[in-house]
Amino acid sequence: MASRACPVCGSEAATVFAEQKIDPAALDGFAFASRKQPEYMHYRLVACGVCDLIYASPAPGPETLAGAYLTAGFDSSEESKWAARTYRSLLRPVLGSLTSPSGNLGSALDIGAGDGAFLEELLAAGFRHVEGVEPSDAPRMSAGDHIRPFIHEGLFSPAAFEGRRFDLITCLQTIEHVHEPLGLCRDAWSLLTDGGALFIVCHNRRAASAKLLGRHSPIFDVEHLQLFSPRSLRQLLGEAGFTNVSVRPVFNSYPVRYWARLAPIPTGLKAKTQEALGGRLGALRVMLPAGNVAAWGHRRGG
Ligand SMILES: [Zn+2]
Repeated sequence: MASRACPVCGSEAATVFAEQKIDPAALDGFAFASRKQPEYMHYRLVACGVCDLIYASPAPGPETLAGAYLTAGFDSSEESKWAARTYRSLLRPVLGSLTSPSGNLGSALDIGAGDGAFLEELLAAGFRHVEGVEPSDAPRMSAGDHIRPFIHEGLFSPAAFEGRRFDLITCLQTIEHVHEPLGLCRDAWSLLTDGGALFIVCHNRRAASAKLLGRHSPIFDVEHLQLFSPRSLRQLLGEAGFTNVSVRPVFNSYPVRYWARLAPIPTGLKAKTQEALGGRLGALRVMLPAGNVAAWGHRRGG
């Protein structure tokens, strides 16, 4: 565990947002899994007075994280499909800017690809070549046979793609988890073609749902080393050299059953609710703002 300056703007002008809240006995294999049941545990969190980021300080180092993610559990391939569909619809304005005069889309890289659900959406959107990077074994192993060979094992490192260029790099629900979010964006910039785009989706700490729940919001979690707002996301992409930066709210479309799983209600009641929603009602899809934000920017020149 080491203290950090703001991982977006480098400022040390931060105030304590919440003291550490961790029960080691409750930290199981799913603590570092995606889209799990909220646990309400987090490191000491501070708020940057300059760029509006909330970040963990002290925070575990990259080696600790790599180990935690390698063995993290995965039980949500169904949910990852719905999320991937939502993200593809958000990507429409970006794709318009990437399409060549012949109407083709080139190559895309997804950082934190999970089970490859979004790689499938990228192929369906018309990309000719897709690749992903994923540090956790469980989601990678649950990827379909046709998509698994395109998912690299491990944490994202630009060295693995030296000499290559992508037209689109995506980073979905992943930027909160990495030790150096600005480093990731700069690395992504270096791997993009001129005119290529980086597309990010993450939690929005300024969303109405986060305000309503305050510190009980599930976004305050051990696996989130930083939490963005529209302002800090814009700053992140700007610092990394991106231009034409856009930031938009996300409306997620999930079945009722899954919304109930995310809801901040006691565990016992939650189990009963899940049982009650086992039938058709639970399968109904509803679109709600889940407190996420999307941002993208382009590499121009350089
Ligand atoms: Zn900052």
